[in-house]
Amino acid sequence: MAAESTLLLSLLKSGDEIVASDDLYGGTRRIFDRVMKNFGIRYKTFNLADHVDRRIFKGKKMVWIETPSNPLMKIIDIKEIAEYAHENDCILVVDNTFASPYFQNPLKFGADIVVHSTTKYINGHSDSLGGAIVLDDKEMYEKIKFNQNAIGAVLSPFDSFLTLRGIKTLALRMERHQANAMEIARYLESKREVEQVFYPGLESFQYHETAKRQMRGFGGMLSFKVRRNVSAFLKNLKYFSLAESLGGVESLVELPFFMTHASIPEKERRRLGITENLVRMSVGIEDISDLIEDIENALRASSVHKNF
Ligand SMILES: *Cc1c(COP(=O)(O)O)cnc(C)c1O
Repeated sequence: MAAESTLLLSLLKSGDEIVASDDLYGGTRRIFDRVMKNFGIRYKTFNLADHVDRRIFKGKKMVWIETPSNPLMKIIDIKEIAEYAHENDCILVVDNTFASPYFQNPLKFGADIVVHSTTKYINGHSDSLGGAIVLDDKEMYEKIKFNQNAIGAVLSPFDSFLTLRGIKTLALRMERHQANAMEIARYLESKREVEQVFYPGLESFQYHETAKRQMRGFGGMLSFKVRRNVSAFLKNLKYFSLAESLGGVESLVELPFFMTHASIPEKERRRLGITENLVRMSVGIEDISDLIEDIENALRASSVHKNF
């Protein structure tokens, strides 16, 4: 969030407007809603994963997207959005936290700026908070660099040490996160206790083709809807901790409706498809047979109990 606020305060001024994708990280929505608003910076969200109307970018200063998105794993075509943004002299920012730089490099597809929460995959051990801004433009870099120092959004030496330690195994971890997530997604898809699975690596997934065009791998995040008793499912998991955050070596599970996305008005949550039975998983690097066995037991428990 320090990286995001430095970026926003460096490049925008009162009266500017942002176009954002609708499936946004809660903290980003909060900074737009509760902080930037007080500086006269407004934003509007749109579904930028399907049928984008290029007129919405007219007169705007910045476009902010997340792909894959959180929690529904929607994939936005970065190249297409970059084209629309640049027709209107807009800066395109891509939050690349979910894919990590190992699987996706948005600058290659025309993005101007990439942001990462290094708290997640880049550090990878759930023991440090930080962020990164990646860009290839000297002028914007100088502005942001000056403001980073002036505002004080600076990582401590110890957090820097932890993040550098983590980044050394990024490639190994991402390969394992992806392999485990792929197996779990396929497994879930085959179970009658599961209504729907959201994972960009599944051929049946709505956005699979777009994902293949811009990603080298599909990452370790997935979501799915449990048909019957979702709380029985959660209670019976042994290896997945019930927690927010993501991208660490240990598997986590959470309910976006009640946790990460609870601050979005209920009507809006439902419109987006974030329902009570939606489960988000951050698949860790544990032994895959242990994880599958754990999910199998929990799914069985979900189906013998009555509805939610
Ligand atoms: C966690 C997260 C952030 C914010 O990162 P912090 O490290 O918690 O400040 C931003 N974007 C996405 C997609 C995230 O998952």
